[in-house]
Parts: sequence; structure tokens; C-alpha cells
Amino acid sequence: MSITMNLQIALSALRNLLFPLRANCLGCGAATGCREDWICPACRKALTRGWVGASPPPKGMDAAAFAYTYHGAAVGIVSQLKYRGVTRLAGFMGGDMARAYRFIEPTGADCVTCVPMHPKRRARRGYNHAELLARELAARVDLPFEALLERVRDTPQQARLDADARRSNVSGAFRALDAAGGRRVLLVDDVCTTGSTATACARALRAAGAEAVCLVCYARAMK
Ligand SMILES: [Zn+2]
Repeated sequence: MSITMNLQIALSALRNLLFPLRANCLGCGAATGCREDWICPACRKALTRGWVGASPPPKGMDAAAFAYTYHGAAVGIVSQLKYRGVTRLAGFMGGDMARAYRFIEPTGADCVTCVPMHPKRRARRGYNHAELLARELAARVDLPFEALLERVRDTPQQARLDADARRSNVSGAFRALDAAGGRRVLLVDDVCTTGSTATACARALRAAGAEAVCLVCYARAMK
């Protein structure tokens, strides 16, 4: 080993001692020892164990597939994307959703759309996380992204409601554009809990003449 190499190793050890890497895992918050926040090996392993794939669809959908159960690391990752503005996670999540979509691909979707956010909320947050996921998925499965749904009522966040309240909360909250007529739509959302949001979106898409509606979410809440 040359003197310069030894010197480089010594300098890098000294740097790590003086400036320890403090990046955290986006799944569990543990220190990763990385230069940048990312997902630790334990969380990656936990995600793999929670893999779902094709799953019985919520009412009104022709098929559904999910990447992971909504548990552990998946909860952390969704909340970083949704509430902390870590939008670069969308690419990573969209890749896993594309893998899940392959299981229901024979349903033959011809476009990808997302659960819409009310314009007021979107303006506050600066982005619709479901749209980011839908665009990443669309690019990976070679389908066009089309904004086919509108939210016509600003509904309270589903996360704080029980199943009955969720259903009435989203009933009539969505309207589909005429462009949905005759389409085979792949609907995207981050998490599917009771399925009431997806069902309400499917109803709006079918009312506008959509031929088929299937669903892909990053995570599925299991009872
Ligand atoms: Zn972790």
C-alpha cells in the first residue's frame, strides 16, 4: 500500500470521527451511517417480508395489486413522502408498485390516473403524493398518465375516520372527466385501508364511461 493511500485512509477515518454521518433511515428513523437519508437494510428486509402482489380488489374495482402491507417500514416511507416532502421516495416506491402491477397486467389498463387531492389542499402541500406515485408507475409500465379525476369536495383526511365515516366522507367527493369514457383505467393511491376512496373513484370513473378500473397502491392495510 502506498503512502498516499495510507494517508487517505487515515484522513477519512479522522473525518468520520470529527463529522460522523448522521443520516437516518426513512423507514424507521434509525441512524444509517449513510451520507444521505435512505432506507436501512433491516427495513428493506421487513418490506420484502410484507410483499403482497395481487389481492382481492375493493368493491367496484376489476383487480387490485399492492406492493406491501401497511406496516413497519412501509408506514414510515409513506409518511415521509406524504407529510415530510421527501418526494424522491416516489421513484423508489413507484418501482415496487410496477412490480406489483405485473401481477394484474392482463386486465389491460390503457392509462394511469391517481386519487386527486382538492386544489386547496394541493396548494398547501405543494404536490399530490398519489400523483407522484402514479407518474412514476406510469413511466415504468409504459402507460400514459392522465388526470381523469377531480375532487369536488374538500373532505376531511380519511386517516382520522372509521370505516362507516370513511364511506360517507368520500361518497360523491369525486368526478371523472369525459376523457375517462371507454378507457381501461389503472387507479393509483398510496395506501388502501377500507377501500372506500378507491370504490368512490371507481364509481365516478364508471359513471363517466370507463370500461374497466383496477387499482395499485403502495401499501394495503390488513385487518
Ligand atoms: Zn430502517
